[in-house]
Amino acid sequence: MTTVRVRIAPSPTGPLHIGTARTALFNYLFARHAGGTFILRLEDTDVARSTPEFEEDILEHLHWLGLEWDEGPAAGGLPERGAFGPYRQMARRDLYRAAAEQLLAEDRAYPCYCTAEELDADRKLREEAKLPSRYSGRCAALTPDERAAFAAQGRRPAIRFRIEPGVVAFDDMVRGHVEIDASALGGDLVIVRVDGTPLYHFGVVVDDAAMGITHVIRGEDHLSNTPKHILLFRALRYPVPVFAHLPLILNADRTKMSKRKSQTAVKDYIAEGFVREALVNYLALLGWSTGTEEEILSLDDLVGRFDTAAIQKGGAIFDRGRLEWLNGQWIRRLADDDLASRLAPFLAAEAAAGRIDRAPSPADIVALLPMVRERLPVLGAIGELVGFLYVDDLVPDAALLVPKRWDAATARAGLAVALAAITEAGEAGFTKDDLEPSLRGLADARGWKAGDLFMAIRVAISGRTATPPLFESMVALGRARTLERLARAVAVLAA
Ligand code: GLU
Ligand code: ZN
Repeated sequence: MTTVRVRIAPSPTGPLHIGTARTALFNYLFARHAGGTFILRLEDTDVARSTPEFEEDILEHLHWLGLEWDEGPAAGGLPERGAFGPYRQMARRDLYRAAAEQLLAEDRAYPCYCTAEELDADRKLREEAKLPSRYSGRCAALTPDERAAFAAQGRRPAIRFRIEPGVVAFDDMVRGHVEIDASALGGDLVIVRVDGTPLYHFGVVVDDAAMGITHVIRGEDHLSNTPKHILLFRALRYPVPVFAHLPLILNADRTKMSKRKSQTAVKDYIAEGFVREALVNYLALLGWSTGTEEEILSLDDLVGRFDTAAIQKGGAIFDRGRLEWLNGQWIRRLADDDLASRLAPFLAAEAAAGRIDRAPSPADIVALLPMVRERLPVLGAIGELVGFLYVDDLVPDAALLVPKRWDAATARAGLAVALAAITEAGEAGFTKDDLEPSLRGLADARGWKAGDLFMAIRVAISGRTATPPLFESMVALGRARTLERLARAVAVLAA
């Protein structure tokens, strides 16, 4: 029995993408479910687009999601882990060179001296003829003398792998039996660039073999690359891993979720206040399900339940509403202290931005939880919800103070009687259970709809038309400040 070894192989050319996080999660779940090993490998050979900042973003956020890798590069002050390193492709160039030498020696690959201009011209000709792009084969049969002549001109070769005719077939864990004709692969394939860096297709094969990867689980966008990889595995006499191609993640309109059109960076979801439990839960459901109604699943639950047989073939639609719903569900499940400490930075940010005058203490936040916990689709909504409690000088907008069915004079009269009643009821009457009947009674006695009076009070104490439940909000604000704000609102309407 071979032990499962799987990997996530991000390229640090952008911040951690939702799709990469989903692929990492599926690999993690597959490994943990099978008692196997989860490896992180950085595919950093696109030197122009890779940056240390993107690398850090990817590692930090995979870690934040709880997707700990067993083997991987040095990161966050911790040393490299694992016996198959280095885990950065730029540090593995000798391995690619040796593999390329082997292919050259066996004539499975050859030096290609074509210049960028020549290749461009070929591409244009095929484009004009409406033909799919394909290498001309110009260097496939050069004699040793012809090669020497190019070298003498100072041309340095790329290395091309011979794509032999035939059908490449494999059994994908998700897609089932797949056959792709080698004629569709664009002709002989560059595996090492003129500058000596490996192409993705080559690095991935050499590394997956060297790292003993047993299962390659990745996005369906790589399905068409797989025949190239299989041909390379075979040419290098490496065992071919099992493949599983995960369904694409689509926008609601079924278009592909792209960086340009959609919010794809995990960090942007974190910044909005999605919690890791919900993101992990949601990502797992992007292409997989338990087959039951159950949808609230922790990372541990997912490890136990994960089964590749239940991965769907069709595209997985990214449904922001469902993600928010799950986030709300997870927010409800967090312990008080935990939730308060996760909300604290969002309120601190409100204060830093000047939207509130002071950020509440963790203990203050805990006290608010009964009235906000069920009203938070994201942690970042906390400012809108309770910010009015932490503003020193609130001046409500006169127009907002007047409910639709009322005029300014009625609003002013309503707020004035509320102010008087609350003053009269004293500290002892200032509870959510006393406030409601007393204010409702005031409205009834004057033939007002209680809802209208409550709306005027809501705006007076918060400046907004939507708040947590009114009487809880008043109690949270405190009697003195409630009275002060009611008086201020009466004055605003009198002006
Ligand atoms: N570096 C590749 C990517 O980020 C890895 C693809 C693979 O898993 O083979 O898309
Ligand atoms: Zn060539």
